[in-house]
Amino acid sequence: MKIICIGRNYHDHIKELGNDVPTEPVIFLKPDTAILKNNEDFYYPNFSKQIQHEVELICRIGKEGKHISPEFALNYIDGIGLGIDMTARDVQNELKTKGLPWELAKSFNGSAPISNFSELNKFTDIQNIHFSAQVNGIEKQKGNTKMMIFPVKEIIAFVSKYFTLKKGDILFTGTPSGVSEIKIGDRIEATLENEKVLDFYIK
Ligand code: MG
Repeated sequence: MKIICIGRNYHDHIKELGNDVPTEPVIFLKPDTAILKNNEDFYYPNFSKQIQHEVELICRIGKEGKHISPEFALNYIDGIGLGIDMTARDVQNELKTKGLPWELAKSFNGSAPISNFSELNKFTDIQNIHFSAQVNGIEKQKGNTKMMIFPVKEIIAFVSKYFTLKKGDILFTGTPSGVSEIKIGDRIEATLENEKVLDFYIK
């Protein structure tokens, strides 16, 4: 399976990092070795001094497809959850300065803690879902999917032009503002609508 991620999909987060608003989705991948499930501990990597959390709505792909049109795109989702796009911001800034790809900063072991998935039909509108992230009990990020620049169906249409989507693939859909640095000992929690779906520690 693969993990497809979109960067710069919320205006407030683009602003906090000083990036330009994209004219088409910004895409990167994480390998399956990035996944942490069942609230496993995240181990702080020794190549970074600035790991930041990015809470994101995630979609699990339920069937294979390519060149999917936006009007049918939501039929390809079989589950919704939350993930944390763990980012080595210091490494990423260096790569960005050099014009290099982001994978070392974004796709390392354990860089994708994910929740369990709920069925899509549990939500009335995929573009109106509240979610948030707390660090040590303090709310750091709060978002609603209606604030996305590229809605989920457009992301699926866009990425499926390049990558065949397969059952079990996971899509990270971008983070709202409030990303902050984590440190060893921190507790990260994330809430989807009113349900806590992630709760793990930094080791
Ligand atoms: Mg992200």
